[in-house]
Amino acid sequence: MNFQNDYLNRVYEEVCRRNAGEPEFLQAVREVLESLKPVVEKDPSIEKNGVLERIVEPERFIQFRVSWVDDKGQVQVNRGYRVQFNSAIGPYKGGLRFHPSVNASVIKFLGFEQVFKNSLTGLPMGGGKGGSDFDPKGKSDMEIMRFCQSFMTELAKHIGADTDVPAGDIGVGAREIGYLFGQYKRLRNEFTGVLTGKGLTYGGSLVRKEATGYGLLYFTSEMLKNMKQESLQGKRVVISGSGNVAIYAAQKAQELGATVVAMSDSNGYIIDEAGIQLAVVQQIKEVERARIKEYAQRVPSAQYVEGCRGIWSVKCDVALPCATQNELNGQEAQQLVDNGVMAVAEGANMPCTPEAVEIFLKNGIFFGPAKAANAGGVATSGLEMSQNSMRYSWTAQEVDEKLKGIMVNIFHSAYNASKEYGAPGNLVLGANAAGFAKVAQSMIAQGVAY
Ligand code: NDP
Repeated sequence: MNFQNDYLNRVYEEVCRRNAGEPEFLQAVREVLESLKPVVEKDPSIEKNGVLERIVEPERFIQFRVSWVDDKGQVQVNRGYRVQFNSAIGPYKGGLRFHPSVNASVIKFLGFEQVFKNSLTGLPMGGGKGGSDFDPKGKSDMEIMRFCQSFMTELAKHIGADTDVPAGDIGVGAREIGYLFGQYKRLRNEFTGVLTGKGLTYGGSLVRKEATGYGLLYFTSEMLKNMKQESLQGKRVVISGSGNVAIYAAQKAQELGATVVAMSDSNGYIIDEAGIQLAVVQQIKEVERARIKEYAQRVPSAQYVEGCRGIWSVKCDVALPCATQNELNGQEAQQLVDNGVMAVAEGANMPCTPEAVEIFLKNGIFFGPAKAANAGGVATSGLEMSQNSMRYSWTAQEVDEKLKGIMVNIFHSAYNASKEYGAPGNLVLGANAAGFAKVAQSMIAQGVAY
């Protein structure tokens, strides 16, 4: 890797040496450093203060054993993680992911991305992330509860409303947050906003559940409006995944006049030319926790195709990858371009490989990178923290308006930064540069030992 800049080369070499065998983390660092070239060349104080060397090293990385007892009385052991990446602008903030693919590399990539994303929201939140290689699929409610309680028994030592505030992510929804919150309260005997994504009856925020998906569409609308004088009205949209982000992205896309023609899960995808019936997807995924395949058995206009990756061969105007990292590669990106895609915005974290992103940018496709486009979830988590601190709740309309305002601002921050640094319309560069600025200034202001 050559960034054509000695400082960036030196920092990246050291990151590779220290984090060998962590491909996701290296991919995320590479992407950010590439974007920061014009920024470090313009501002020598970044190198002078060793900002990049510090920003790529987590402030703290915690790994722990999570033992729990399954329904058969057998002892099970999983591995838990929390990375507290950067607290320059606020308490660490970022979700928890429960999925068998979770490891140190995945948690560090997510934590690193979170630092810039949280900064972009304009709210005072540092970056963190956590999770476990525990697989919630096929587990009973009692098994989930016992696992969450064991996980929190250790995690509680490291978090707090003014220290580190986790939330949900893949495999961690309202049920898991409830069990985690209950255990924290039991251990500490205090009722604080230590987690976000809580249920509405115990401190959760209206619109938090919908926020990432809604925010993605607010961002995409603003991108289309400003970069192409277009709207979502009448557009064909393909959305991968059928979890929290995907479902509410689909809902808002439909509200804005688009037709969602395909969705997926990790087994396969459905095409419904008549437009996906979201109520059916929600019944299958949110209530029955079943497979997306069921949709085609219930809706006659739909067709199911085994294998999730084929979803990118479905012709569309707007593609929204909302499932997981590296789910859309160069070849698939080319297929989308050949089929006339106009815009791509990332609902998931790092769903497009670097090759895919390059193809989109080269072909003039409007591309919204995750740390800008999916920041609506953490932004609304920030709003949940504010409401908890005030011991007060805003109405759904108030939260939704604030969310929309934040997403519109994020688009303009990234767009303006892309122009400032000589790459107008490159929102990857723009989002990284804009997110980085506030964190870097705060790190410099707070001195070397942070
Ligand atoms: P969920 O667990 O609710 O849903 C994940 C969805 O993605 C499921 O439909 C799952 O299918 C599918 N999926 C998982 N792995 C694959 C794969 N390899 N190929 C295709 N589909 C797959 O998670 P969320 O919706 O919360 O998160 C989705 C993404 O969005 C993640 O990258 C997450 O980090 C990111 N994100 C989430 C935020 C939030 O607020 N929830 C905030 C910002 C980002 P199956 O049911 O088969 O497992």
